[in-house]
Amino acid sequence: MNSMDSLKETMRRDRVFNFLAPGTHAASSKELDISHDTILYVEGITVSFDGFKALNDLNLHISNGELRCIIGPNGAGKTTMMDVITGKTRPDEGMAFFGQTMDLTKLTEYEIASAGIGRKFQKPTVFPEHSVFENLELAMHTNKNVWPSLFARLSSEQHDQIMQVLDVIMLHSESKILAKNLSHGQKQWLEIGMLLMQKPKVLLVDEPIAGMTHQETERTAELLTSLAGEHSVIVVEHDMEFVRSIAKTVTVLHEGHVLAEGSMDEVQNDSRVIEVYLGE
Ligand code: ADP
Ligand code: MG
Repeated sequence: MNSMDSLKETMRRDRVFNFLAPGTHAASSKELDISHDTILYVEGITVSFDGFKALNDLNLHISNGELRCIIGPNGAGKTTMMDVITGKTRPDEGMAFFGQTMDLTKLTEYEIASAGIGRKFQKPTVFPEHSVFENLELAMHTNKNVWPSLFARLSSEQHDQIMQVLDVIMLHSESKILAKNLSHGQKQWLEIGMLLMQKPKVLLVDEPIAGMTHQETERTAELLTSLAGEHSVIVVEHDMEFVRSIAKTVTVLHEGHVLAEGSMDEVQNDSRVIEVYLGE
């Protein structure tokens, strides 16, 4: 039996074990099981900082391929929610699962990223002295611990993947430009592209259009919309117009709890939501 077969065999055994005793071996299973079409389950999550509840019994279910927007006033717990999903913050109570079997509260940040949850922070972390193409190339190799990877030969498959991502992030004509010479918006897209090189199943994006021009904002809406389907995308954003332009389902957070969830029209006409936003 080669190592790949033995790995598959182990996963198979784990899944049977999970079925018999739910939860006990969830963290060790590395296979994403989305047989129920839900890719993220967050249930009853509470996070306290010195007694203050940043998240308070938070529930969130994200479907495979869904584009979900999360809105809510400052301090509502949006970033803390992302911290829990990515393993940066451990909840005091509740559960968070990636697919049916991966217990996010037991995996490290690294394990969660490798399992397929990518996160884009507000500040882009591109390599300024490298070209757009090289940035994507570097991003492709980071999970294989190949460094320095720019000297490694790309397979045609890898080359194709970079070309594909360049198309998605609308930077094909800029592929030879140094990242430091890109506009603010283009840097943000490049960083999304770097995440895409890792082929994530879920992408978490925190305030993607902050500081962007009107035109860049529109193109970011197209970009994020085009990612849905193949990826599940969770976008935290303040700008209501932007959210309206991309969102199917909107979740409104307030004081660490889901205040409302539905279409943009539904949540904007919800009297509790109106009250919270007027009070901001
Ligand atoms: P949002 O992203 O919706 O603006 P956050 O998740 O950043 O909200 O914060 C939610 C609440 O938790 C805020 O009141 C914030 O001050 C508090 N908070 C977040 N992180 C910490 C921390 N590490 N220590 C103490 N309080 C924190
Ligand atoms: Mg925040």
